[in-house]
Amino acid sequence: MKKVGENKSAKGIWVFGDYRNYFQNRVTLQLIAKGKELAGKLGADLTVLVLGHQVHQYAMEYVAHGADVIMAVDHPALKSYQVETYSRVVADLVRAWGPQILLAGATAFGREFFPRLAKRLRTGLSADCVALDVDAQEGWLIQTTPSFGGELLADVITPQSRPQMATVHPGMFQERIHDAAAVGRIIYPDVKVEADERVQLVRSKPEQGHRGELEDAPVVVVGGWGMGSRENFQRLFDLAEYLGGEVGATRPVVTAGWAGEDRLLGQTGRSVKPRLLITVGTSGALQYTTGIHGAETIIAVNRDPNAPIFKISDLGLVGDGRSILALLLETLKKRL
Ligand SMILES: Cc1cc2nc3c(=O)[nH]c(=O)nc-3n(C[C@H](O)[C@H](O)[C@H](O)COP(=O)(O)OP(=O)(O)OC[C@H]3O[C@@H](n4cnc5c(N)ncnc54)[C@H](O)[C@@H]3O)c2cc1C
Repeated sequence: MKKVGENKSAKGIWVFGDYRNYFQNRVTLQLIAKGKELAGKLGADLTVLVLGHQVHQYAMEYVAHGADVIMAVDHPALKSYQVETYSRVVADLVRAWGPQILLAGATAFGREFFPRLAKRLRTGLSADCVALDVDAQEGWLIQTTPSFGGELLADVITPQSRPQMATVHPGMFQERIHDAAAVGRIIYPDVKVEADERVQLVRSKPEQGHRGELEDAPVVVVGGWGMGSRENFQRLFDLAEYLGGEVGATRPVVTAGWAGEDRLLGQTGRSVKPRLLITVGTSGALQYTTGIHGAETIIAVNRDPNAPIFKISDLGLVGDGRSILALLLETLKKRL
């Protein structure tokens, strides 16, 4: 493969530019910010990989948010995401340019695309990381991910295979301020793009649900397994309505069918950043708190005074969640 604009520093850190999430969780921008910080420690550049058709506007946005280099592959066959086509193109680019580190958001897209890419490149992948750092001496990416049911945080390294790959949960890092005057370089590499003839996109339709509403809600009320029943969980909607907020749920609640998957918060769900979050009957497992740590103020209700949720809450109420909820609703009813 011919390299247009040979650039040794494109060997540094690459972030996959998933611009389809631009208006949602902004995880690409968050990764650019973190990747830039880590690239600084390694004395390398931060490159954003942009695949698609007519992608110039996204390239410019990524530069304004801190990308040093844009590796852009612009081709009609890349207009919509096809896992086979995308992974072939990215694997070819990685082999040709040799980045040390490859990062993507742990979105539905990243969770499908990166494992397949890692297999193709015969390297490791840490999924759903909550923190990243580098050992500049060794050139290692330190990939922090919850393990053992959220009891422990494990620091994972990939000492031998390259690139070192990780997906990162949205909301873990702060994006940089948009700087319209920022300057970056765009490389258009000469890479073969072949559409996967076996797959044809007939139409696409945005998912219905609460996406966006939960992320933007000023108040989020979350119910956990301690709510005890679907009926009790339903009362959280009354509270959310009084407070002008939305309702979130933990994994056991979603598994039991008391709430839809689109309300799941945490490592495998969504991340929220409300001004106020009230969490009732949740133990505070790391996989859940990963999704709420952007909240400004957290009020937790749990009958167990030793529940881990109290360690991250600003105000803790020890008692029966259902009674406290009933009291709260009664008070609000009188006041509003
Ligand atoms: C790979 C992996 C990914 C995961 N991803 C997620 C994720 O994205 N989101 C997520 O939520 N979980 C996730 N989990 C599961 C997570 O580890 C926890 O099991 C889950 O968050 C616990 O939910 P919970 O707090 O509602 O239930 P529990 O842990 O059962 O806690 C219930 C709490 O309610 C309290 N309680 C009971 N009765 C009452 C009462 N009457 N009044 C007040 N308090 C009461 C109890 O003291 C307890 O603290 C994941 C797990 C794994 C292994």
